[in-house]
Order: sequence, then structure tokens, then C-alpha cells
Amino acid sequence: MSLLEVDSIDVAYGNVQVLWDVSLSVDKGETVALLGANGAGKTTTLKTICGDLSPMDGEVRYKGESIGDLPHEDVVAKGVAHVPEGREVFTESSVRENLELGAYLDRSGMDERLERVYDIFPRLEERAKQQAGTLSGGEQQMLAIGRGLMSEPDLLLLDEASLGLAPVLVDDVFEAIQRINDEGTTVLLVEQDIYNALRVADRGYVIKTGEISLSGTAEELAQDKRVEESYLGA
Ligand code: ATP
Repeated sequence: MSLLEVDSIDVAYGNVQVLWDVSLSVDKGETVALLGANGAGKTTTLKTICGDLSPMDGEVRYKGESIGDLPHEDVVAKGVAHVPEGREVFTESSVRENLELGAYLDRSGMDERLERVYDIFPRLEERAKQQAGTLSGGEQQMLAIGRGLMSEPDLLLLDEASLGLAPVLVDDVFEAIQRINDEGTTVLLVEQDIYNALRVADRGYVIKTGEISLSGTAEELAQDKRVEESYLGA
């Protein structure tokens, strides 16, 4: 049994269907990349996994249990953290307060959790008292990931973690993702940066206009020209 199983889900916004029969799985300990062009359905897939949307048909199972109809908080309580696209940090609150909010369901062991996040992202410790809104884009992205880690998830869902960052920060973020995985957290990441995503991932899926069009090991996908073509809408 995989840690996460997305089984033939159809998802719609109102009566506009955007996912058709999407299936994917993530095993414990893996990093899996979900790749695809703008509007292909990557964010919608993550939102369905984390309880922001419910599938019309099909099932999402986590540790074998159906979670497709659970609200977001219940999914988080089961050990899934979602870092949304666009680094939604609380700009008026301090870095530390933002991190503490990530542990809102269970505040035990707060200092150890903070230590782990600071160990991965030392800049956040240096800026712990600073208002989050004054951080650079890259630092805000680190804060968003750090906040996700504060709930001590077994599965971390990352939506476009590298989008809009300077190349040097992109490297930092992917290095952090690698480390988070090495330390035992399973990762499902959504990316437009094919190269870096396949560098850190074990396996990947390509989604094209709401349907999975390709899947394979990261090595297989890195050599498959159809992956890049699907980004160009070809
Ligand atoms: P991006 O990288 O641009 O976020 P994506 O692959 O994550 O792309 P989604 O955001 O999942 O794609 O969007 C899939 C489809 O659903 C697109 O056609 C999009 O226009 C549509 N869509 C997304 N959000 C909504 C919404 N709230 N209401 C209606 N349609 C939506």
C-alpha cells in the first residue's frame, strides 16, 4: 500500500470539470514530482489531496483511508501539510509567529520543531523577530515551507516552491527539499521547473489538460522529449 493513493479522480469547479480520471501514488519515503504546463491541473490535484476540494468521482486514500471528503484541518491532523503556491505568509506577523501558526493543531514540542526548521533554514532563525512581509521572496518561500514542516507531516505537498525565485535561491530551496526528504518526510511537489524537479524526485507524473499523460522514474522522464513538449502545449 502506498502512503498516498489518488485513484481515478474527477474534479470540477462548479460545473466546469478540470481533472479527468487522475491517478497517482506516492510511497513512503519518496519524492514524487507532478509536472505540467500552466493550467494543466497540478494545483487542483494538490488541493483535492489536502481537502480544499472534493472529487466528484474517484477516491483519495492516505495510509489506506479515504480522505477525499475530509476538510483541510482533518487532513492536516492525519499528517499531510500543504504549502500553497504564492507563499501565503502572514506579512504583519513575525517569522517566528508564522512558524508557530504551522503547529496550530498540536503545540507540543514547539522548541524542537522550531529548531528543526531553523536547522534547515538558518536564515529564518536570523530573522525570527522580523516581520514576514519584509523578507525577500526566497526567504518567504523558505518560511512557507518551514511553516508546513511545523505540523511534523509525514507527507509534504509543495506547490511551485521555486516559482519566481532568483536562481541561487532556487538551488537553496531544492537543496532544502532534498534534505527534508532525506530526513524522512515524503514529498509530492508540483513544479514547472522540470530540470530541478526531476533532479530531486524519484518518480514523476506529467499532467496535460487535466489528464495524466506520462509517468515514470525521474531518469526516464528526464530523457523523454514528450515531457518538455507537454509544457509547450504541444
Ligand atoms: P498553474 O501552474 O497555472 O497554477 P495548474 O496546473 O496548477 O496551473 P490549476 O490551477 O489546477 O492548474 O488549473 C486547472 C484548470 O482549472 C485551469 O483551466 C484553470 O483555469 C481552472 N481553474 C483553477 N482554479 C479555478 C477556479 N477557482 N474556478 C474555476 N476554474 C478554475
